[in-house]
Amino acid sequence: MSEEIRYTGTSKDKILRLALLEAWGYTCYWCDEPLDYNDTEIDHVVPRSLKPDELDEMLDDLFRGKPRERAMFQIDAPSNLAPICAGSRCNREKGKRMFSSGRFEVKFMKAREKAPAVEKSVRSFRSRTPLSGALVAVLTADLDDEKTSELFKQHAASLDARVRRLDYVMQYELIDPFDEQFDELTLRLDEQGRRTVTTIEELSGFGIDQALQPRISRLKGTIRSELARAIEQSVENRGYMRPEAGSVGGSIRMRANRLRYYRAAEQFQLTGVFRAEGSAVVWVLGNDGTGMDEVQGDARGVGRFDVMFSIDDETDTAAYVNWRALTGR
Ligand SMILES: [Zn+2]
Repeated sequence: MSEEIRYTGTSKDKILRLALLEAWGYTCYWCDEPLDYNDTEIDHVVPRSLKPDELDEMLDDLFRGKPRERAMFQIDAPSNLAPICAGSRCNREKGKRMFSSGRFEVKFMKAREKAPAVEKSVRSFRSRTPLSGALVAVLTADLDDEKTSELFKQHAASLDARVRRLDYVMQYELIDPFDEQFDELTLRLDEQGRRTVTTIEELSGFGIDQALQPRISRLKGTIRSELARAIEQSVENRGYMRPEAGSVGGSIRMRANRLRYYRAAEQFQLTGVFRAEGSAVVWVLGNDGTGMDEVQGDARGVGRFDVMFSIDDETDTAAYVNWRALTGR
């Protein structure tokens, strides 16, 4: 059996800290700000400082109806760990807010989802090859140290040239912490897309997550109104008249694979595919032709999306989707 990966509170956690940072895309899991290795601490999502009865209460809450998962919970396992800004700012804010906001639960679930990637990353760094050791040294080097930064600057072009030989795709997962439905957006970007990310971050002064958030909200709104129309359509197909869907519950998965900048027009374009499903209470004209009845409706669909936006004006965002209804289960 391979050895278990756990937080130890010792210098052995160096690789674990690096792996967590990689899994969270070099951002603080609490404030989403970009983070460098040497400014990172490992945070216990469910804190170690809880008294036994407080911990019990919290786990009851987090694992409602999942006793088996609850029994397997380990406070020092990667599924309860995340990278956080060193110093106490984010930790303090988290302490104050964690019990009162749904944000905490989202972060908790996110950490659980990322655990396999963290473990995979730790294992690859620990594989005893000269290259894995050298990579750890490069990725954890203290860039505030003058000699180190000189050395890096001297060879930066070489490092960059070597990395560019790889045809890798960068994957981001953007999660809206205030979205109760856990919609997902994955960004898979080629080299030009990755350069566009840098442009967006430079122009907006925000990380890509935060810069894209309002644009993605617009896109989700557009997809959700298509979903509402499809639900109304499905109810109409069942023979009801004048259906009007109430608020739609469900989930949307979006996968963006192309991000471009049109410099002359100062417009960005994000393109990809989505899959959405949901249900709603639908108001329909009653049998007697006067009052309203309510029935349940649901729908599923897939399609492509296109979001055009400029960076200096959030309202200058247009989201287009082509919706194709899916039928059957
Ligand atoms: Zn932070």
